[in-house]
Amino acid sequence: MKKTTPLYEGKAKILWETDSSDHMIQAFKNDATAFDGTKHEVVEEKGILNNKISSHLFGLLEDEGIRTHFVETISENEMVVLRLDMLKVEVVIRNVAAGSLVRRLGVKEGTRFDPPIVEFYLKDDVLHDPILSEEHVRALDLATPEQVDTMKREALAVNVVLSNFLSQRGIDLVDFKLEFGTKNGELILGDEISPDTCRFHDSSTGEIMDKDRFRQDLGGFMEAYHEVLNRVSS
Ligand code: UDP
Repeated sequence: MKKTTPLYEGKAKILWETDSSDHMIQAFKNDATAFDGTKHEVVEEKGILNNKISSHLFGLLEDEGIRTHFVETISENEMVVLRLDMLKVEVVIRNVAAGSLVRRLGVKEGTRFDPPIVEFYLKDDVLHDPILSEEHVRALDLATPEQVDTMKREALAVNVVLSNFLSQRGIDLVDFKLEFGTKNGELILGDEISPDTCRFHDSSTGEIMDKDRFRQDLGGFMEAYHEVLNRVSS
């Protein structure tokens, strides 16, 4: 498969059109951004690590019967994916209180939620990705009621598979963000699953192993991503 035109460049990835109308090439960049892009650095190896971690985790989900856009890894920082029409919503699953939830609701950091919380956010940088109720998602025509139900069900299924897999490797899945798209009417999981889009904490020490190391200037940013890759590929 050959890259033809870059169709979309985001903060961390470039999506290329290819000579196959059904497929795209997703290239992971070395850029690290936080706080709506106001904090930005280029970090060597980040694209490679996120491509490898995402490839492993999408492969795992496929093995467990969850449909994703992942087709194959074709280079150190690129994967072939199905071409989807992306919905303009982000789905966040929270097992443990962290980040914006703590800031917004004053819940104590580290509080465990059982069952996990499912949230929807509008994908809109200008509006700073505001949180949405399911009614907002429907009223704004961002997804049909059936798609809302399917996204919730799929996101919770992803949570079970990833939480179990990671806990066997000494990683606690605190929270994560998913994006879905459609192909021929079918809802399919897209985007990436990496330490940029998930919170991973070491199960025994509580050490942060994700993008919060960058957000909070904790140091050891790529060392943590390397450790995640080592554990998910073991
Ligand atoms: N997240 C993401 N992209 C976004 C917003 C959030 O990948 O645009 C991920 C984030 O890495 C975390 C989870 O979704 O794993 C929940 O993020 P939160 O709402 O706590 O926001 P943040 O603390 O990043 O502001």
